[in-house]
Amino acid sequence: MPRIVVLTAECFEKILQFLGQYSNPLLPKKKCVEAFAFLFCRQTPTYYIIEDAVGVATGERDSVELKPEELALIEFFGNQNPELFLGGWAHSHPGWGLFFSGKDEDNQVFYQQMNEDGLGLIWDYTLVGKKGKGLGFTMLRLKNPNRPGFYEVPFKLLGFSQPFIERIFSPLGYDEKSLVTAWKDVEGLDKLLKPAEELLVKTQRMSADLTSMIGASAPPGDGGAQDSSVSSGTPSATALLVDGMKKGQKQVSLTATRDKATSLKEMGILHYSQQHFVQATKELQAALTLNREDMECWAFYYLCLYSQGDRLAANNVFRELGEIIGSNTAKWLEVARLCEERDNYEGAQHAYTQVIKRDPMNFTLLDKIKELGERKKEQESTLF
Ligand SMILES: [Zn+2]
Repeated sequence: MPRIVVLTAECFEKILQFLGQYSNPLLPKKKCVEAFAFLFCRQTPTYYIIEDAVGVATGERDSVELKPEELALIEFFGNQNPELFLGGWAHSHPGWGLFFSGKDEDNQVFYQQMNEDGLGLIWDYTLVGKKGKGLGFTMLRLKNPNRPGFYEVPFKLLGFSQPFIERIFSPLGYDEKSLVTAWKDVEGLDKLLKPAEELLVKTQRMSADLTSMIGASAPPGDGGAQDSSVSSGTPSATALLVDGMKKGQKQVSLTATRDKATSLKEMGILHYSQQHFVQATKELQAALTLNREDMECWAFYYLCLYSQGDRLAANNVFRELGEIIGSNTAKWLEVARLCEERDNYEGAQHAYTQVIKRDPMNFTLLDKIKELGERKKEQESTLF
């Protein structure tokens, strides 16, 4: 018997923020493209709670297998939230309606093979506020993972309210009238958890947290607590990964920490270049916890923080870097170059200044720093 599916408001906000960047009423129709995110879920005895989402890619997924950098990202999330596992995916169908294409069905197999609750969420921005379509999304599952054919999964919403809907949809260009209709639909379709059910969800979630905390603090050698979490039937992210890899045509080795760090870094740089700074920051941070010696990773981490306007955090990066790089001027020069290449003169100045501290008679570099200061001023005057 599959569990009752619950989608949390926090998670839906993340899904919408990612998918909504690539298709919304403010964008010209031609510019609206598909986007794809992972869903991280938790199982309790009664509920299947979709708790977290992370945006992964845009455009159509042309391959069923997960890419190494995606696997690295899943593993990182799994490590950060041991009670959550990769339990589904979300993607958008800009203007095409809510269904599984043949390719979608192929993708969906992965989520249902080890987990009967695995599901796919589909959102179409043109359906928000259309009568009977609520927030423009649905959840689907295959009737049988081995055969084509899907069905709509009933689900409940946790923590949704009309002000919440308005807050997250308005910036995407939805008018008040369509949002009122959307909300009436949500209420009319009986999608909201009743207070008693909400309490039950929260209680079960808490007791699951407690179990995993006790499990995690069990002394080594005492496998009891950990075994119990395995036998409860919850597929861990790792178990799903292993399965995914067996299924995949390519064998991907995740054992080498450096490889993982590199994959995460590449994902971070990609997201930085797409201006997904929040996402990129997370990925680069994750990469740095695995490998603190990668200057490129540090430079992009700094650039991400700077681009989000968090000067303080950005400057702290240089403090931390000081401990790692020390007097290795070659490394400071590398960081400076990476910043300068991306027109971040402040970062470049920071890094060059560290070199000057060790080489105070380097007049060429002093001139360079001065020049960067002027370029920075110019840049700021065109910005403001
Ligand atoms: Zn699709």
